[in-house]
Amino acid sequence: MIKTRFAPSPTGLVHLGNIRTALFNALLAYHNQGIFLLRIEDTDQERSEQRYVEQLMADLRWLGLDWQEGNIETGSGQGQYAPYAQSQRGDIYNHYYQQLEQSGLVYPCFCSPEELSISRKLQRSAGQAPRYTGTCSHLQADEVANKLAQGLKPTLRFRVPRGEVIQFDDVVRGLQKFQSDDIGDFIIRRADNTPAFFFCNAVDDALMQVTHVLRGEDHLTNTPRQLLILNALGLTAPQYGHISLIVGTDNTPLSKRHGSRSIQALAAEGWLPIAINNYLARLGHSGGRNELLPLTELAADFDIKRLGKTPAKYDEDQLLYWQQQAVLHSDEQTLADWLNDTRTLVPEAQYAEFVSAIRGNITFPKDAILWAQILFAQHFAETENWDYSDPAREQIQQAGSAFFQQAVNALETANGAWSELTKVLKKTTDKKGKALFMPLRAALTGQTHGPEMGRLLPLLGQQEASLRLQRAADMSG
Ligand code: GLU
Repeated sequence: MIKTRFAPSPTGLVHLGNIRTALFNALLAYHNQGIFLLRIEDTDQERSEQRYVEQLMADLRWLGLDWQEGNIETGSGQGQYAPYAQSQRGDIYNHYYQQLEQSGLVYPCFCSPEELSISRKLQRSAGQAPRYTGTCSHLQADEVANKLAQGLKPTLRFRVPRGEVIQFDDVVRGLQKFQSDDIGDFIIRRADNTPAFFFCNAVDDALMQVTHVLRGEDHLTNTPRQLLILNALGLTAPQYGHISLIVGTDNTPLSKRHGSRSIQALAAEGWLPIAINNYLARLGHSGGRNELLPLTELAADFDIKRLGKTPAKYDEDQLLYWQQQAVLHSDEQTLADWLNDTRTLVPEAQYAEFVSAIRGNITFPKDAILWAQILFAQHFAETENWDYSDPAREQIQQAGSAFFQQAVNALETANGAWSELTKVLKKTTDKKGKALFMPLRAALTGQTHGPEMGRLLPLLGQQEASLRLQRAADMSG
């Protein structure tokens, strides 16, 4: 059974980068009818906040990334390996610290942050990679007891074996080898007794029986340390896969500067979850089908072998493309919910036809609001400040008053039907093609582009249409 997980630290809002990690892990689990687990890594008690836990769960649900095990609303967790918030797992960690202490694989370190910083600087200026020099690794039991008696609070360091090669098969990047001599003894418990990332992250993956960990490339160098810990504890490590990071067009890590924003912000802007899923599922993962797919189908297409090793470039135009696909292909209910704010602007009886007529021309709910206002704002002809676009004004001027007078008459004859209106008008004005359609569109909608006029005209109604044509006649007279 494949089990993957998303293990966010709730210290801020979830962005596209971390949600893509969640998505890949979810897709891997769904593809294999496995389990997708949610674990909250809230050991940094100062920066972790419950509101971020709640928001990230809301984001996952909004995207449809349901988890089968792990944190639920209450934050207390549900499943065999609860609790799933690291802040509640202190006793479990203590058990494993003791195990390491008993086997002599760890030692207390009393070096102060200042001492460590000086040591790192010295190493750097000597052209060496900074790593812990091992000052406290040789302390005798009585020295340790002495320092503890003075009230000094030690960190706990893991004793890295010398002269070993640590290797693992990364499911994305292939065989990875690290020299243990390049890794200094590292901290697994902070001086305030909270567990350090390397430790609790690895221990929890093992205890929760996670089989696969897909995570950002920035964690690659953490993995040998985590393998050392698990090995020392006799715990089974998951298979790690380090996915390429998302970069902006300038090849630097995706940030606000590139337009990256939180999932919450994207939802508020009116992006559809299926658009985000379809975009992210292809960002650094290639070879699947190319059409808009629901999560179940994205999962069917997901294959870890097709995860890219090169940085994935963020391109908002692509996201926009999937958004348009999503609007075109969403079912009526989804669309109606998405456009909820438009409802009050449109007569109930015409709502379904309105949505169906405009869906090919909108990308965000605000576009629909604009069309609702264009079509249903009362007394268009008398609205002083009606916002014709500049090209629409130009069209109206060029067509001239006589054209619109004819149009008013033709509309009458046509009984409000678009095809009839244009047929009659073509005869009476001798105009055709663009010269015929554009001025009508401009006069009736104030725009030179938009949904099919054949669908808009009935929504507008004959009376309102007639007023608008008359107004155009007056404007261009
Ligand atoms: N809490 C870690 C993070 O948010 C998890 C890293 C991992 O996936 O192992 O970066």
